[in-house]
Amino acid sequence: MRQVADGVWQINTIPVPNAVNAYVADDVLIDAGTRHSPGLIKRSLQGHRINAHALTHAHPDHQGASHEICESLGIPFWVGDGDADAAENPELIGERQPDHWLARLYHRLFTGPGHPVDRRLVEGNDVAGFRVLETPGHSAGHVVYWRESDRVLVIGDVLLSMNPVTQIRGLSEPRRKLTPDPAQNRRSAKQKLGSLEPALVLFGHGPPLRDTRKFVEFVGRLPD
Ligand SMILES: [Zn+2]
Repeated sequence: MRQVADGVWQINTIPVPNAVNAYVADDVLIDAGTRHSPGLIKRSLQGHRINAHALTHAHPDHQGASHEICESLGIPFWVGDGDADAAENPELIGERQPDHWLARLYHRLFTGPGHPVDRRLVEGNDVAGFRVLETPGHSAGHVVYWRESDRVLVIGDVLLSMNPVTQIRGLSEPRRKLTPDPAQNRRSAKQKLGSLEPALVLFGHGPPLRDTRKFVEFVGRLPD
Protein backbone atom coordinates (compact mmCIF):
# COMPACT_ATOMS: atom_id res chain seq x y z
CA MET A 1 0.00 0.00 0.00
CA ARG A 2 1.18 3.47 -0.81
CA GLN A 3 0.02 6.39 1.31
CA VAL A 4 -1.44 9.17 -0.85
CA ALA A 5 -3.15 11.39 1.74
CA ASP A 6 -3.77 11.59 5.49
CA GLY A 7 -5.27 8.18 6.35
CA VAL A 8 -5.60 7.18 2.67
CA TRP A 9 -3.61 4.48 0.83
CA GLN A 10 -3.59 3.26 -2.77
CA ILE A 11 -3.51 -0.46 -3.65
CA ASN A 12 -2.64 -2.00 -7.02
CA THR A 13 -5.15 -4.81 -7.55
CA ILE A 14 -3.29 -6.20 -10.57
CA PRO A 15 0.50 -6.36 -10.99
CA VAL A 16 0.51 -3.29 -13.29
CA PRO A 17 0.97 -0.12 -11.16
CA ASN A 18 -1.94 2.37 -11.22
CA ALA A 19 -3.89 0.31 -13.78
CA VAL A 20 -6.72 -0.98 -11.56
CA ASN A 21 -6.75 0.76 -8.19
CA ALA A 22 -8.38 0.18 -4.85
CA TYR A 23 -7.99 2.46 -1.82
CA VAL A 24 -8.01 2.25 1.93
CA ALA A 25 -9.60 5.22 3.68
CA ASP A 26 -9.03 4.90 7.42
CA ASP A 27 -10.51 1.42 8.06
CA VAL A 28 -12.59 1.09 4.88
CA LEU A 29 -11.46 -0.68 1.70
CA ILE A 30 -12.85 1.15 -1.34
CA ASP A 31 -13.14 -1.10 -4.44
CA ALA A 32 -11.63 -4.56 -4.86
CA GLY A 33 -10.22 -5.10 -8.36
CA THR A 34 -11.11 -8.17 -10.42
CA ARG A 35 -11.91 -11.69 -9.35
CA HIS A 36 -8.18 -12.46 -9.76
CA SER A 37 -7.26 -9.79 -7.19
CA PRO A 38 -7.99 -11.29 -3.72
CA GLY A 39 -4.42 -12.46 -3.10
CA LEU A 40 -2.79 -9.16 -4.01
CA ILE A 41 -5.34 -7.14 -2.02
CA LYS A 42 -5.05 -9.32 1.08
CA ARG A 43 -1.26 -9.11 1.01
CA SER A 44 -1.48 -5.33 0.68
CA LEU A 45 -3.86 -5.09 3.65
CA GLN A 46 -1.65 -7.08 6.00
CA GLY A 47 -1.18 -5.27 9.29
CA HIS A 48 -3.99 -2.82 8.58
CA ARG A 49 -7.32 -3.18 10.35
CA ILE A 50 -10.22 -3.08 7.84
CA ASN A 51 -13.76 -2.83 9.22
CA ALA A 52 -15.86 -2.34 6.06
CA HIS A 53 -15.68 -2.62 2.27
CA ALA A 54 -17.30 -0.02 0.00
CA LEU A 55 -17.54 0.27 -3.79
CA THR A 56 -17.51 3.22 -6.14
CA HIS A 57 -19.53 1.05 -8.53
CA ALA A 58 -20.40 -2.58 -9.18
CA HIS A 59 -18.31 -3.26 -12.30
CA PRO A 60 -16.09 -6.34 -12.87
CA ASP A 61 -12.83 -4.48 -12.19
CA HIS A 62 -14.10 -3.01 -8.92
CA GLN A 63 -16.26 -5.73 -7.33
CA GLY A 64 -14.21 -8.73 -8.50
CA ALA A 65 -12.72 -9.64 -5.12
CA SER A 66 -15.48 -8.12 -2.96
CA HIS A 67 -17.10 -11.40 -1.94
CA GLU A 68 -13.87 -13.07 -0.93
CA ILE A 69 -12.60 -10.00 0.95
CA CYS A 70 -15.85 -9.53 2.88
CA GLU A 71 -16.02 -13.24 3.72
CA SER A 72 -12.43 -13.68 4.79
CA LEU A 73 -12.27 -10.45 6.83
CA GLY A 74 -15.82 -10.77 8.15
CA ILE A 75 -16.71 -7.20 7.22
CA PRO A 76 -19.89 -5.52 5.86
CA PHE A 77 -20.35 -4.55 2.20
CA TRP A 78 -21.45 -1.00 1.32
CA VAL A 79 -22.61 -0.13 -2.22
CA GLY A 80 -24.36 2.80 -3.90
CA ASP A 81 -28.12 2.30 -3.83
CA GLY A 82 -28.47 2.02 -7.61
CA ASP A 83 -25.75 -0.64 -7.89
CA ALA A 84 -26.61 -2.72 -4.82
CA ASP A 85 -28.72 -5.26 -6.70
CA ALA A 86 -25.96 -5.72 -9.31
CA ALA A 87 -23.38 -6.19 -6.52
CA GLU A 88 -25.57 -8.95 -5.09
CA ASN A 89 -26.43 -10.51 -8.46
CA PRO A 90 -23.59 -10.04 -10.98
CA GLU A 91 -25.76 -11.21 -13.89
CA LEU A 92 -27.19 -7.70 -13.75
CA ILE A 93 -23.69 -6.26 -14.27
CA GLY A 94 -23.55 -7.96 -17.65
CA GLU A 95 -27.12 -7.09 -18.57
CA ARG A 96 -26.62 -3.39 -17.83
CA GLN A 97 -23.46 -2.99 -19.91
CA PRO A 98 -23.61 -1.77 -23.52
CA ASP A 99 -24.16 -4.57 -26.04
CA HIS A 100 -20.54 -4.78 -27.15
CA TRP A 101 -17.98 -7.57 -27.29
CA LEU A 102 -15.52 -5.70 -25.06
CA ALA A 103 -18.12 -5.38 -22.28
CA ARG A 104 -18.96 -9.08 -22.60
CA LEU A 105 -15.25 -10.00 -22.48
CA TYR A 106 -14.66 -7.88 -19.34
CA HIS A 107 -17.68 -9.45 -17.71
CA ARG A 108 -16.52 -12.99 -18.49
CA LEU A 109 -12.90 -12.44 -17.47
CA PHE A 110 -13.17 -10.23 -14.41
CA THR A 111 -16.58 -10.32 -12.69
CA GLY A 112 -16.51 -11.82 -9.21
CA PRO A 113 -19.26 -13.52 -7.22
CA GLY A 114 -22.10 -11.48 -5.79
CA HIS A 115 -22.27 -10.65 -2.11
CA PRO A 116 -25.11 -9.40 0.14
CA VAL A 117 -25.05 -5.63 0.56
CA ASP A 118 -25.28 -4.48 4.18
CA ARG A 119 -25.62 -0.76 3.56
CA ARG A 120 -27.01 1.02 0.48
CA LEU A 121 -25.12 4.28 0.15
CA VAL A 122 -26.94 7.47 -0.80
CA GLU A 123 -25.99 11.12 -1.24
CA GLY A 124 -24.61 12.64 1.93
CA ASN A 125 -23.70 9.41 3.76
CA ASP A 126 -20.39 9.37 5.62
CA VAL A 127 -17.78 6.74 4.76
CA ALA A 128 -14.52 7.00 6.72
CA GLY A 129 -14.83 10.78 6.92
CA PHE A 130 -15.70 11.10 3.23
CA ARG A 131 -19.10 12.29 1.98
CA VAL A 132 -20.90 10.11 -0.57
CA LEU A 133 -21.87 11.93 -3.78
CA GLU A 134 -24.12 10.16 -6.28
CA THR A 135 -22.58 10.26 -9.76
CA PRO A 136 -24.60 7.95 -12.04
CA GLY A 137 -23.77 7.28 -15.69
CA HIS A 138 -20.80 4.89 -15.82
CA SER A 139 -23.11 2.70 -13.77
CA ALA A 140 -26.60 3.34 -12.41
CA GLY A 141 -25.43 3.59 -8.80
CA HIS A 142 -21.92 5.00 -9.20
CA VAL A 143 -20.79 7.07 -6.20
CA VAL A 144 -17.67 9.10 -5.41
CA TYR A 145 -16.20 9.91 -2.01
CA TRP A 146 -15.33 13.52 -1.15
CA ARG A 147 -13.41 14.80 1.88
CA GLU A 148 -13.79 18.54 1.93
CA SER A 149 -11.33 19.20 4.81
CA ASP A 150 -8.30 18.48 2.59
CA ARG A 151 -10.17 18.32 -0.76
CA VAL A 152 -9.54 14.63 -1.53
CA LEU A 153 -11.82 13.03 -4.14
CA VAL A 154 -12.07 9.27 -4.74
CA ILE A 155 -13.63 9.48 -8.18
CA GLY A 156 -14.06 5.85 -9.28
CA ASP A 157 -14.51 5.79 -13.06
CA VAL A 158 -16.32 9.10 -13.64
CA LEU A 159 -12.99 10.10 -15.21
CA LEU A 160 -9.74 8.19 -15.77
CA SER A 161 -6.16 9.44 -15.56
CA MET A 162 -4.72 6.54 -17.58
CA ASN A 163 -5.98 4.07 -20.13
CA PRO A 164 -5.66 0.77 -18.23
CA VAL A 165 -4.96 -1.20 -21.42
CA THR A 166 -2.51 1.06 -23.28
CA GLN A 167 -1.25 2.73 -20.06
CA ILE A 168 -1.21 6.07 -21.84
CA ARG A 169 -1.66 8.80 -19.23
CA GLY A 170 -4.00 11.76 -19.36
CA LEU A 171 -7.49 12.66 -18.25
CA SER A 172 -10.31 11.06 -20.19
CA GLU A 173 -13.91 10.03 -19.91
CA PRO A 174 -14.48 6.28 -19.46
CA ARG A 175 -14.88 4.17 -22.59
CA ARG A 176 -18.35 4.39 -24.08
CA LYS A 177 -18.29 0.64 -24.72
CA LEU A 178 -18.12 0.09 -20.96
CA THR A 179 -20.43 2.96 -19.95
CA PRO A 180 -24.20 2.41 -20.05
CA ASP A 181 -25.03 6.15 -20.11
CA PRO A 182 -22.09 8.35 -21.21
CA ALA A 183 -24.21 11.53 -21.34
CA GLN A 184 -25.33 11.06 -17.74
CA ASN A 185 -21.74 10.33 -16.67
CA ARG A 186 -20.66 13.61 -18.26
CA ARG A 187 -23.43 15.47 -16.45
CA SER A 188 -22.27 13.89 -13.19
CA ALA A 189 -18.71 15.07 -13.89
CA LYS A 190 -19.75 18.62 -14.79
CA GLN A 191 -22.59 19.25 -12.38
CA LYS A 192 -21.42 17.25 -9.38
CA LEU A 193 -17.64 17.47 -9.56
CA GLY A 194 -17.01 20.57 -11.68
CA SER A 195 -17.13 22.97 -8.74
CA LEU A 196 -15.28 20.86 -6.15
CA GLU A 197 -11.74 21.98 -6.97
CA PRO A 198 -10.07 18.87 -5.50
CA ALA A 199 -6.46 19.08 -4.36
CA LEU A 200 -6.06 15.33 -4.92
CA VAL A 201 -8.07 13.05 -7.21
CA LEU A 202 -7.81 9.28 -6.77
CA PHE A 203 -8.95 7.34 -9.84
CA GLY A 204 -10.12 3.80 -10.44
CA HIS A 205 -7.63 3.77 -13.31
CA GLY A 206 -4.48 5.86 -13.40
CA PRO A 207 -2.14 7.65 -11.01
CA PRO A 208 -3.28 10.25 -8.47
CA LEU A 209 -3.69 13.79 -9.77
CA ARG A 210 -2.61 16.73 -7.60
CA ASP A 211 -3.09 19.43 -10.23
CA THR A 212 -6.39 21.09 -9.27
CA ARG A 213 -6.35 23.41 -12.27
CA LYS A 214 -5.88 20.56 -14.75
CA PHE A 215 -8.87 18.75 -13.30
CA VAL A 216 -11.13 21.81 -13.18
CA GLU A 217 -10.21 22.83 -16.73
CA PHE A 218 -10.76 19.33 -18.12
CA VAL A 219 -14.20 19.06 -16.53
CA GLY A 220 -15.05 22.62 -17.63
CA ARG A 221 -14.14 21.81 -21.24
CA LEU A 222 -16.42 18.77 -21.46
CA PRO A 223 -19.21 19.51 -23.93
CA ASP A 224 -22.77 19.70 -22.55
ZN1 LIG B 1 -13.14 0.49 -13.81
